[in-house]
Amino acid sequence: MKNTMSHSAECLRKAVPLMVKYNIAVTPANYALWYSYVSGNHPNLNQKLDSALRTYGTCPPALSRDLFEEFLSDKDLELFDSVATEISTVIASVEKGVGQTLNSAIDFSEVLNTCNQELDGFSSNENTEKDILEVVNKLSEESKSMQQTAERFQQQLRAAHKEISSLRSELKESKKAASKDGLTGLNNRKSFDEDLELLCNSHHSILKLYLTFVDIDHFKKFNDDFGHQKGDLVLKVVADRLTKHADQLNAAYRYGGEEFCILSQFKDKREAISYLEKIRIDIEKLALKDNKTGKALRSISASFGLAEYEGEAPEMFIERADQALYKAKESGRNCIIVA
Ligand code: GH3
Ligand code: MG
Ligand code: MG
Repeated sequence: MKNTMSHSAECLRKAVPLMVKYNIAVTPANYALWYSYVSGNHPNLNQKLDSALRTYGTCPPALSRDLFEEFLSDKDLELFDSVATEISTVIASVEKGVGQTLNSAIDFSEVLNTCNQELDGFSSNENTEKDILEVVNKLSEESKSMQQTAERFQQQLRAAHKEISSLRSELKESKKAASKDGLTGLNNRKSFDEDLELLCNSHHSILKLYLTFVDIDHFKKFNDDFGHQKGDLVLKVVADRLTKHADQLNAAYRYGGEEFCILSQFKDKREAISYLEKIRIDIEKLALKDNKTGKALRSISASFGLAEYEGEAPEMFIERADQALYKAKESGRNCIIVA
């Protein structure tokens, strides 16, 4: 029976280049799918994927989703997540070990080098007895071949070292991709859920915790009047404004559709409101322009619902911020309402 850990590492190592080769987006679901493909856990999955690769040269996203639904569960995803984390840890310790071995291998070859030089000097001494010379020559030869072995070993170590580093950065990249929204590049809903849970559970800071929902005003009209692509463009420019104001204490997320949210920490409500007011004005300055004439076709604005954390369950916190947003819409939009 194969060691589970090294088997997992092996599968992970094989999955990455395949995904790159077939141009598969590195999402956690896809990663789990391809991990499962190389591990061969679901023969029918492999058959369907192989057939897609033959037909399309890739696995189209919709099919990936279907296959994920058919063969894998959220449990697989969780399992995969924990394997990936575990492997990162192992990689880090192996990397450290390899670094140390590399150093001692270099020391070793230096000793051999000195030894060789000494032996070369010794063998050129004409007063040396013939048989001693032979022994020395033999020693020197052996030492040379040992040195070659050491050098080969070093090369192998360097190659392994490089491979491990690149696997690690690929893992890091895939983790990053899993927490971002594809369209806007903002943190995604999954990150929001995780961060909110974390902040609510561990909030003892002197600063207070705030949640703001941001919803683009009359967004449906953008789609209806200018098409979905222009709608997407509006989402991106609004997301850019949120990103511009984000920092270590203010994280912005795409909550879903044309709704965004911000998790912030401030001394008081006044500070929170003045921060949001800057964003509101920045968004208000945006406009959808005509590609050719550059003329403004439609102005853009957003409504804000702000809630201060009161120690309740995260769902309740969300509910209050959402209610405040609803009131902002009722109050004529393009404004900030506090819960
Ligand atoms: P309100 O001011 O009350 O928020 O009006 P609204 O039109 O913005 O709100 P509504 O919830 O009626 O419409 C949201 C629209 O957002 C509907 C949906 O088609 C669109 N939408 C959701 N996600 C996306 C997306 O990713 N891209 C595009 N282009 N449109 C999206
Ligand atoms: Mg809206
Ligand atoms: Mg909405």
